[in-house]
Amino acid sequence: ALVLLVTMLSTVGCTSQTSNSGDLGTAKGDKLIGVAMPTKSLQRWNQDGDNMKNMLEAAGYEVILEYADNKVEQQVTQVENMITKGCEVIVIASIDGTALKGVLSDAGKEGIKIIAYDRLILDSADVDYYATFDNYLVGKIQGEYIVNALELDSGNGPLNLEVFGGSPDDNNAFFFNSGAMDVLQPYIDNGKLVVNSGQVKMEQVAIQGWRAEGAQARMDNLLTANYTDKNVDVVLSPNDSLAQGIVASLKAAGYGSADKPFPVLTGQDCDITNVKMLIAGEQSMSIFKDTRTLATQVVAMVTAIMDGSEVPVNDTTTYNNNVKVVPSFLCEPVFADKDNFKELLIDSGYYTPDQL
Ligand code: BGC
Repeated sequence: ALVLLVTMLSTVGCTSQTSNSGDLGTAKGDKLIGVAMPTKSLQRWNQDGDNMKNMLEAAGYEVILEYADNKVEQQVTQVENMITKGCEVIVIASIDGTALKGVLSDAGKEGIKIIAYDRLILDSADVDYYATFDNYLVGKIQGEYIVNALELDSGNGPLNLEVFGGSPDDNNAFFFNSGAMDVLQPYIDNGKLVVNSGQVKMEQVAIQGWRAEGAQARMDNLLTANYTDKNVDVVLSPNDSLAQGIVASLKAAGYGSADKPFPVLTGQDCDITNVKMLIAGEQSMSIFKDTRTLATQVVAMVTAIMDGSEVPVNDTTTYNNNVKVVPSFLCEPVFADKDNFKELLIDSGYYTPDQL
């Protein structure tokens, strides 16, 4: 187990996670850690959960790992059970960032430490730490990818853009959107990008629950209402599940042929389905957030909390949850596309060639 953890630590891009490496592998007795993940329906959360369980167990902890089927009530019950069973630290990737205030107040009273995983938990004083990939940077990289792919700075344009947003109950969705729109808005303002639907604000473009079906239905509507006499050239999708729905809609409308090429399309997570779509030319890029990196960071946080040593954070200003600024560790995302996916995803051992 120690070898596994050391191997994982050596493959990740975050720094400072090794500060407690002297303790790795030390038996921690029956110290119990809870890990609450949102859903099994998206590939990434399965990886996140598995990685954390394996790494925490390798570091000598016992782990309760639960998935909540994207149901808020189920997640609340799971966290309640983790409190009852005596977990000392609970790591939570929330479904609705605003729905955990009550249960976390119970945890706070018991002295249980809470780490928000990937998504910030809002409106609660009882969130102790936050570990995530830099969410604003995710959007910024997507925006910059679009500008480069369309060669907007070399005289190209006007080109037709449509914008999608993530789930409105997920704080990340707003960071992804503002990161991307801060890059793209100047090109909308100078006419190089034209949003024929006129819909760019989060309240107009958000897809509840990050559902592919929701994105597909909205893309169908956009195409019918605005693109019967022209093609859409670029679609900003914040993640891979939405990109799947968007591509399904585009295919049904005849995109993917010589006179209707697939638009430039962004995504996030490098889900296997979407990496196959990159290879097939249906999606242009996907943000790669190595779940091993984030899990490693969280294990470093847990270990520091349990040892009473300084918890590694690198951002103490950005993530205000409406009650407090939550000390955070932000990992750095990168993008994968058809040119670099082999190096990023296969050579690094994230996927095996036959998975793709
Ligand atoms: C995560 C993304 C994920 C999305 C949908 C976001 O909070 O950061 O990686 O694609 O949720 O599950």
